[in-house]
Amino acid sequence: MIPVTRPFLPPIEEYRDYIESIWTRNWLTNMGPLASKLEMVLKEYFNLNHLLYVTNGTVALQLAIKALELKGEIITTPFSFVATTSSIVWENCSPKFVDIDPFSLNIDPKKIEAAIGPNTSAILATHVYGNPCDVEAIDAIAKKYNLKVIYDGAHAFGVQVNGRSIFEYGDISTCSLHATKLYHSVEGGLIITKDPELLKKIAHMRNFGISGYSSFSELGINGKNSEFHAAMGLINFKWIDKIIKRRLEIIERYNQNLQNFKAKVPLWHKNSNQNGAYLVYILESEDLLLKVKSSLDTFEIFTRRYFYPSLSSSLPYLAPVEMEVTDDIAKRVLCLPLYYELTDEEIDWISRIILRSQNN
Ligand SMILES: *Cc1c(COP(=O)(O)O)cnc(C)c1O
Repeated sequence: MIPVTRPFLPPIEEYRDYIESIWTRNWLTNMGPLASKLEMVLKEYFNLNHLLYVTNGTVALQLAIKALELKGEIITTPFSFVATTSSIVWENCSPKFVDIDPFSLNIDPKKIEAAIGPNTSAILATHVYGNPCDVEAIDAIAKKYNLKVIYDGAHAFGVQVNGRSIFEYGDISTCSLHATKLYHSVEGGLIITKDPELLKKIAHMRNFGISGYSSFSELGINGKNSEFHAAMGLINFKWIDKIIKRRLEIIERYNQNLQNFKAKVPLWHKNSNQNGAYLVYILESEDLLLKVKSSLDTFEIFTRRYFYPSLSSSLPYLAPVEMEVTDDIAKRVLCLPLYYELTDEEIDWISRIILRSQNN
């Protein structure tokens, strides 16, 4: 059986060493030394001044919306994981979907202005598959209309735009460190903002709004993360260069093998690097996709239709809206198996099955 993804696990001895240190200190959670160290290490890695480690990527989005005090409509992409939209609804705002660009698969900045109304307060865009949004265009629109910008960077760990971390863009950027993501701490999330006041506010919010020994500064929630999670994050961080390198090699090998595959890949942002988070193909037709997928299924090679169906047409708590590009693309995207331990032989075998099934 070949799964579509497999969480990376470091050698168990490395984790055991950290666990012993947790036993010695008897400090299990509440911004302990490992969680603080993880924040420091990641801050350095991204070359950022500020960063907060939180429970998960969904809570990161919710804290972002809450901290910016967003109301009314939030312009967002229908082509993402459900958490992008659900956090908007959870925070009592309304998602206003704007169609995606057919090449990058990110929200189409050319269509944003037409969707802005008197109740629009923000834009929440996803760097889908780690491919950066057109951040310059989005930020220019936001300035013109006085909107806040949140980037859901759940897929974008290690991505840079114009030589700077992608997380520097927007009023707030978030990331997910969930087990299935490129870099993980089992569960976990990051919140990044350059605004020190906003950062302080979110730091209080993630800890029940507690601001001092016996004082509260705002409405808060439990958005902390534990020492056990931070330990996994610290160990996996030592492996991150190796992980990214191997994943990019795997993608390169698939692309070499699949030159005659009737499919294309998203057009990557031109001033940016790939992080190897996903390998997605946009197939020529849904029929072809179903054929290829079922052939792979018979060999127990599992693929995922990320992100099908589109969020604009499938959520029971929202009225469906038509999105011409998204509805079409979502039917034709297929993510292939991609994880650190996947071997060259397995890649070649998967590729052969794909090419054979397309010609049947
Ligand atoms: C995974 C993911 C999230 C949610 O992150 P969790 O850490 O699982 O809560 C949010 N947005 C996108 C685009 C994701 O892929």
